[in-house]
Amino acid sequence: MAEILDGTNVSEEIIHELKEYFSDKKTKLATILVGNNYSSEVYVNMKKRKCEELGIDFELIRFTENAGEEAVINKINSLNLDSNVKGILVQLPLPKMMNTKKILNSINPKKDIDGLTAENLGLLIMGEERIISCTAKGIIRLMEKYNISLKGKKAVIINNSFLVGRPLCQLLLNKGATVTICHELTKNLKEHTLSADIVISAAGIPFLIKEDMIKSGSVIIDVGITKKEGKLTGDVDFDRAKNRCSYITPVPGGVGPMTIAMLIENLRIINERTP
Ligand code: NAD
Repeated sequence: MAEILDGTNVSEEIIHELKEYFSDKKTKLATILVGNNYSSEVYVNMKKRKCEELGIDFELIRFTENAGEEAVINKINSLNLDSNVKGILVQLPLPKMMNTKKILNSINPKKDIDGLTAENLGLLIMGEERIISCTAKGIIRLMEKYNISLKGKKAVIINNSFLVGRPLCQLLLNKGATVTICHELTKNLKEHTLSADIVISAAGIPFLIKEDMIKSGSVIIDVGITKKEGKLTGDVDFDRAKNRCSYITPVPGGVGPMTIAMLIENLRIINERTP
């Protein structure tokens, strides 16, 4: 039976230390939310609650789906110039008619709390880990906490987005893993997952990863979050998979809380660079 990678516990330990750091500081995080995507509302609320718990000023700026790209970029430009604002977050996904890359790249890289500007992603590719995407960083931190070695391991990531899969691929490479990225056009996914020491799935498809796709003794990280029949579900058939692997993350309570802890940690990194 697999050991559970308890993201709730590990993230609480990290938050506890961060609470002390922020207790005597005035820090502001500005978050931009466009449209009314249900999941985005849930994620933003979780981030807001955690910031408020730590005494961090959380400003939520809402735009309607039809607000237009320029209105969002103008707001980001003014936040870039506002010395009270330490971090800027654009909640993804943005509506399809908006140019996500253009909007993200209008954030001053020094305030880019999610590490998604071309500058911060480029630095990561060059092996300089400055501000790193919170989910990717959270996954690595969780495995490190359980002393899961990455050196020489074969890791398969199911996700090629620049929010999750691509930064995670770089982090794993930096840690000495051999990495394969799979996506919706990948043929015979099972062949890849069956040969992997570590499988990280972020497809957003419940039960995509079944027990017979898992190598015995491997590590299974489930990033996917889908609401199914009123319950949050990951990509992995958790109940069966846990009998085959050595470590597994639950959904909820795995990668999700780690992502939020890393967001606050990134705010600390920014704060320390620009006190
Ligand atoms: P996305 O739509 O950009 O990425 C989905 C990825 O899955 C793509 O790379 C796509 O090619 C791949 N994919 C889809 N169907 C596939 C299939 N049948 N076989 C193999 N690959 C397939 O979404 P995203 O923003 O990267 O998020 C992905 C999932 O992760 C969502 O469920 C999201 O809610 C979740 N997520 C969780 C956290 C967290 O903190 N736990 C953070 C970010 C995203």
